[in-house]
Amino acid sequence: MRAVVLGDTPWSLRVADRWPEPVLGSGQVMVRVRGVGICGSDLALISHERRAPAYPWVFGHEAFGEVVAAGAGVDASRVGQRVVIEPNYPCLRCPACRAGLTSMCPDRVLVGFTAPGLLAEYAAVPAAYAWPAPDRWSDGDAVCAEPLTVALAAIRRSGMRPGANCLVVGAGSQGGLLCLALAAHGVTPHVLEPDDGRLELAVSLGAKAAGPDDTGFAAVFETSGAEAALGEAVSRAAHGATVVLIGLGGQATPVDTRRVVRRQLTLRGSLIYDHPGDFAATLTSGIPSPERILGASFPLDEAPEAFRAARDVPGKTWIRVTG
Ligand SMILES: [Zn+2]
Ligand SMILES: [Zn+2]
Repeated sequence: MRAVVLGDTPWSLRVADRWPEPVLGSGQVMVRVRGVGICGSDLALISHERRAPAYPWVFGHEAFGEVVAAGAGVDASRVGQRVVIEPNYPCLRCPACRAGLTSMCPDRVLVGFTAPGLLAEYAAVPAAYAWPAPDRWSDGDAVCAEPLTVALAAIRRSGMRPGANCLVVGAGSQGGLLCLALAAHGVTPHVLEPDDGRLELAVSLGAKAAGPDDTGFAAVFETSGAEAALGEAVSRAAHGATVVLIGLGGQATPVDTRRVVRRQLTLRGSLIYDHPGDFAATLTSGIPSPERILGASFPLDEAPEAFRAARDVPGKTWIRVTG
């Protein structure tokens, strides 16, 4: 099969024509991958800021496709179903998993990072992690399912009340999806983003540009992981606010703890989502056209160009793997 392969030097990407196909195990479905979204963590892998377990390596974790075969023990009627893939497989046995916090599972398999990824023509996926895509979803909506789930899990964990005034710091694709999801909840998020193109996109998704004096937000979502951004997030939070940290920078970031204490802020980290509730919630969320976050799409042959565009162009870049 064809697959996008990363070599043992940064940015050494190629499209392999004869990559071995995955073997369909029991309890799994074989998915013919149709589209894969690109996110910052892929770029960290490509630049070798984050290491793959082996090279050459197939990565990619935001995918949808079509079930083409069902393994032993899986309902054969699933063949033909259009599915979105939940690319984190927790053990479901450890204390974290049993408490429902599967995102904290120490044995979690991270597809694309600790196990081969989805940027290939076929992927073998545990049946419970290949979710039927709603009929109303376009292919573009389906490619957004995974990062949209990250955004919705962050909103859930923020505990924010309906109508609360909130701030989104950073309007990369994760920040943009947060804006879109908050707007669908009837909230007009303020957004802080230095790049004009990204800011414009966030505004088109229902956000409002935050002015220099806009402070006192009851909920703040920090999506960039940058030190200056965390400073803004904390300094603009209201007394008693919750600041949800989603961005993971390349290094540890200092925070003004005096401000956190004086304002009695809650700092809440939010890492991916918990199985199975968060993906199930995304599929029934009714958020209109998540595909509005998408920027350019590229055919598989042009995957190296797609990753270069993903660094510079606002919106989420994605790759059309098969037609
Ligand atoms: Zn991602
Ligand atoms: Zn576990």
